[in-house]
Amino acid sequence: MGATEVTLVTYHYVRPLAGSRFPRLKALDLAVFERQLDYLAANYRFVRTDEVIAAYRGEGDLPANGVLLTFDDGYSDHFRYVLPRFLDRGISGAFFVTATAALDRELMDVNRIQFTLASAGDVTALIDEIETGIEEGRGEFDLKSPSEYRAELMLPNRFDGPEVAYVKRLLQAALPDALRARLAARLFRRFVTSDEAGFVEELYMGPGELRTMRQSGMHIGLHGNHHVWLDKMSRNDQASEIAGSKRVCAAVGQPETGFSFCAPYGRYNCDTLDLLREAGCAFAVTTRSAVARLTDPPLEVPRLDTNEVPKA
Ligand SMILES: [Zn+2]
Repeated sequence: MGATEVTLVTYHYVRPLAGSRFPRLKALDLAVFERQLDYLAANYRFVRTDEVIAAYRGEGDLPANGVLLTFDDGYSDHFRYVLPRFLDRGISGAFFVTATAALDRELMDVNRIQFTLASAGDVTALIDEIETGIEEGRGEFDLKSPSEYRAELMLPNRFDGPEVAYVKRLLQAALPDALRARLAARLFRRFVTSDEAGFVEELYMGPGELRTMRQSGMHIGLHGNHHVWLDKMSRNDQASEIAGSKRVCAAVGQPETGFSFCAPYGRYNCDTLDLLREAGCAFAVTTRSAVARLTDPPLEVPRLDTNEVPKA
């Protein structure tokens, strides 16, 4: 009889931070990642994505203390730093990739905002700029006043303090799309770089790297066509998002059904689950923080964040 639980762990950036161009980026330092791998190797058994999927189907057993490492957003970090270490240690991870970033080489909003925050230094200067943009935009868009936005959105969450959470909420969702795109682009140009295309080439894996990952035994999953909140979209728009995200399957040479999925920002609803089922999704992970049980629905499998797992 196999284990009834398995631990999935979520990672985003994994890179050497000291001496890097963005030392303040909220990334997991490579040396700390290696220590966490040592810890996990001593206390867990690494399992493969296909073993986890089979166990959820009742078609295979998992070992006790199984752990599956998962990586969101398709960063080049995963190819450059994670893949070689996984090959050395015989580990297979799951890598969830956003189609417009990997294939169309578009910068995701979430990254535009993260790198702006990492480069700007002082978050109050960023807030000033955004609030000035809100005041200027009040004739053109239906907007609240900055103090109303502050009252609603300047609150800490699981990962960020109130000011950083406020910037992210404004630029990711709260402001009208056209205004937040305009403000985020302006801030990115000012604080990070005017060469967005070059930045994208550096930041994300492309089709060639993804194929190499897959050929090296890594699992490639889908993470949206655009990196957006699915639960805010109509059912039709969600269906297009899921269809668009399946382009990654073709690009890496895997079947279009039986794929795995990770909703951007962990945001999904009942429509998302229906549409994923219709589209042939086999397995989907969330951002709910828990050790996964095989009794969890296979399209809503929880994960711990790397910060919730010991590093030594
Ligand atoms: Zn993501």
